[in-house]
Formats: sequence, structure tokens, C-alpha cells
Amino acid sequence: MTDYELIRSKRRSLELRVLDDGRVQVRAPQRASLRMVQTFVDSRRQWIADQQQRQASRPRQGWQDGAAFPFRGQLLIMDVSAGRNAVVVSGGYLQIRVPEPDSEAAVRQAVENWLRKQARPLFEDSIARQFPWFASQGFSQPVLRVKKMRTRWGSLSARGYINLNMALLHYPPAALDYVVMHELCHLQHMDHGPGFHALMDARMPDWRQRKQLLDQPLFQP
Ligand SMILES: [Zn+2]
Repeated sequence: MTDYELIRSKRRSLELRVLDDGRVQVRAPQRASLRMVQTFVDSRRQWIADQQQRQASRPRQGWQDGAAFPFRGQLLIMDVSAGRNAVVVSGGYLQIRVPEPDSEAAVRQAVENWLRKQARPLFEDSIARQFPWFASQGFSQPVLRVKKMRTRWGSLSARGYINLNMALLHYPPAALDYVVMHELCHLQHMDHGPGFHALMDARMPDWRQRKQLLDQPLFQP
């Protein structure tokens, strides 16, 4: 029998989740009977096993000296030493100075802070290079919001925001430009219909190859 944690809430349906560490959670309506929940879990046993297998085989990001860190499509090697907080890319290395170099949490925090600072100027630059044609069509430039998203690389809101996933920084610049172009094309076509694809083909003829760069799971926190 599968072990699981049951979380009851105001909801209408049952939902199953396999967490990053392999634990199973079931979210259920307040009044769902235990038998109903158990039947649900039993019926999804194969799916749970597949998810757990996938989680277990994921390469995890290490946060210590010598760990590899993907940045803009390049694998940098972490060079961690003791000192006042500073993170710098130098040659093939990500040089990280933290007061506690043996603490993975401290290294991770320092790198994440650094990464967040890199995102805005790099994302703004990609937008600035690709927006002029859209400006010539009379569109106004969407406002950038950098986000941590689990399931999407980007989105364009009707209220004039372009949301981009911070994790794009791990991938080659060509992939970032693809996502930005994709979202900008939504200024003209909100859906993914033939008109949208024709515009992508016209603005970025190699977008399919660029898109494939994102298929590889480069970074697993
Ligand atoms: Zn889209």
C-alpha cells in the first residue's frame, strides 16, 4: 500500500501530488471518505511509482565547491571560498565567496541572489533587441516581470506585462530570445493558431531549433 499524507480543504475534487522528495500528498474535499481516498490512490499506483522513479533519477544541483552550475548554456564550476559575499563569473568558474563556505544553504542563497540580479538586465536586453518590429506595428512595450515559475518559461498578460522565468538564465541566450519572441508574438496573436506560427516563422525562422534547447532539464534545484 502507498503511504500518503492527506490534506483536506475546501475543494471539489481529489488531487494527487508526488513531491520533489518522493512523498505522496492527496488533497481531498472535507467530506470525502477515507475509502474513497484510498481507492483513488490505489487506482493511480502506477502513476505514483513512475513519478517517484522520475524524481529519484533527477540530477540535483549541488551547492558546494566543484559542483557544476549551468549559466547561459555554459557549465560553470563552482569555486567556493571564505570571505565577504561576492559572486563572479571568471573563465569557466563561478567564483563564490561566502562567510560559511561549507554551508550549502549559504552558497545557494548567495548564488540565487546573484542570479536574480543577472536576470533583469539580460532579459531587458533580449526584449530591447526584439521589440523594435513590434513597436513599428504600433504595440507598446510590455513591462518585464522576472518570476520563478515551475511550469512555464514565460507569459504575456493582457494588462501589458511580460513574465519571464528566472530559470531561463541556465539556458543558452538563443533559448531566452526564443521565449521573448514567443511572448512578443502574443501581442498580435493571443492563441497558438496558424497566424501565431506564421508570425514566429517570419520573425524568427529558426525558432523550432531554439525551442528544443529548452527540452533539456538543465537545472534541478
Ligand atoms: Zn504562448
